[in-house]
Amino acid sequence: MEETVIRLGGKRRTTFMEKVREILPEGGHLNLCLTCGACSSGCPATGLEGLDPRKFLRMAALGLDEEILATDWVWMCTQCQRCIYVCPMKIDIPRLVYNVRAAWPREKRPKGIRGSCDMALRNDSCSAMGASPEDFRFVVEDVLAEYREAQPEFAAMEAPIDKAGAEFFLNQNSREPVTEPDEMVPLWKLLHLAGADWTYGSKGWGGENYCMFLGDDAAWKHITATAARQAEELGCKVFLNTE
Ligand code: SF4
Ligand code: SF4
Repeated sequence: MEETVIRLGGKRRTTFMEKVREILPEGGHLNLCLTCGACSSGCPATGLEGLDPRKFLRMAALGLDEEILATDWVWMCTQCQRCIYVCPMKIDIPRLVYNVRAAWPREKRPKGIRGSCDMALRNDSCSAMGASPEDFRFVVEDVLAEYREAQPEFAAMEAPIDKAGAEFFLNQNSREPVTEPDEMVPLWKLLHLAGADWTYGSKGWGGENYCMFLGDDAAWKHITATAARQAEELGCKVFLNTE
């Protein structure tokens, strides 16, 4: 396994050491980390770039801001939260990772994640594929008509958009209507058979939020708020997040 060599010494800023303090449980301090390695053992990013969550936390605690900002490892964390779940001290390492991502100049953050976030900001769909509300409506109605005709047992199935007063507000992986529209149908069938009263929103139907992974607070908030506002305006009671 490739190892990252950490050299100590010299005068250092300690931005991330402060961030580490913020993520510790109330009243906690860094000595609470038992260096038990439970976080690293289940982390899908362990070993990548010669790092793991425990080592990363130690780097922050030692004030190694330059090294922390220089590694691509932060972009390999999936934000799965597994490390918090197993940490006996409940140390929020993904929050620290997020803070480091946000400290990168936006134009230097990974192109794929940045591009998907920017696509989601193009219109009210908030779709990482950039699909417009009109295109989404066209595809949903087209696929629904096709299945109703081909499968008479689902002739009464619905896939509503902006149905006021529906109980469930459902979002949708936006790759499906664009590249694999048939993949939307199994969930429609389940909801139909369950007798669920649901709707998509024409605004905020894109379920993924790459702006969160990008560490872009303002864009993350915009996307989440667009979907939440639409659900609220329609009077839905439950937000069903499929992503
Ligand atoms: S699981 Fe928690 S206590 Fe154990 S090494 Fe990781 S951060 Fe430290
Ligand atoms: S949230 Fe990040 S650091 Fe924690 S286990 Fe998942 S990938 Fe690893």
